[in-house]
Amino acid sequence: MSTAIYPGTFDPITFGHIDIAARASKIFSKVIAVVAVNPSKNPLFTTEERVELARESLKEIPRIEVINYEGLIVNCVAEYGAAAIIRGLRAVSDFDYEFQMAFTNRNMLAAAETVFFMPDAKYAYLNSTHVKQIAIHGGDIGGFVPEIVKQRLLEKMKV
Ligand code: ADP
Repeated sequence: MSTAIYPGTFDPITFGHIDIAARASKIFSKVIAVVAVNPSKNPLFTTEERVELARESLKEIPRIEVINYEGLIVNCVAEYGAAAIIRGLRAVSDFDYEFQMAFTNRNMLAAAETVFFMPDAKYAYLNSTHVKQIAIHGGDIGGFVPEIVKQRLLEKMKV
């Protein structure tokens, strides 16, 4: 039984996140998507909204759970007895940040192994920030996020 933690802001969840979660669930017996309570990132969606949208969007993936967590990801790893931290690597631009983060986590908890997955090429340049920008300007985001996320984004834009 090997559990993996998949942490992120998920503001909001996109097809790129879903792709990575699906790949991880083929390798690990349980994947816990951890929605980071991260006020410094000033998320558009509340923690509860991000959890709800992630749950709905990931419901077809077997053996996956969605939780929220406030605090260090290594504490979450220890609490759940996880064997790995899952992160997605898109382009080279992700590498330096992810590399530093993986070493920092390992320095805090030697057992914290970070495992990277690459998404399908069509999601290699997809990120939540761009999706929000496109939505703000009235562009079509149907190819980037599930229908429920699209609807919630459009509602947010009206407020
Ligand atoms: P964070 O603020 O922790 O970077 P994100 O929600 O932006 O949170 O991303 C969580 C993880 O998902 C990161 O490892 C990120 O690289 C990965 N990710 C996000 N979008 C994609 C994508 N389109 N393809 C692959 N990985 C992705």
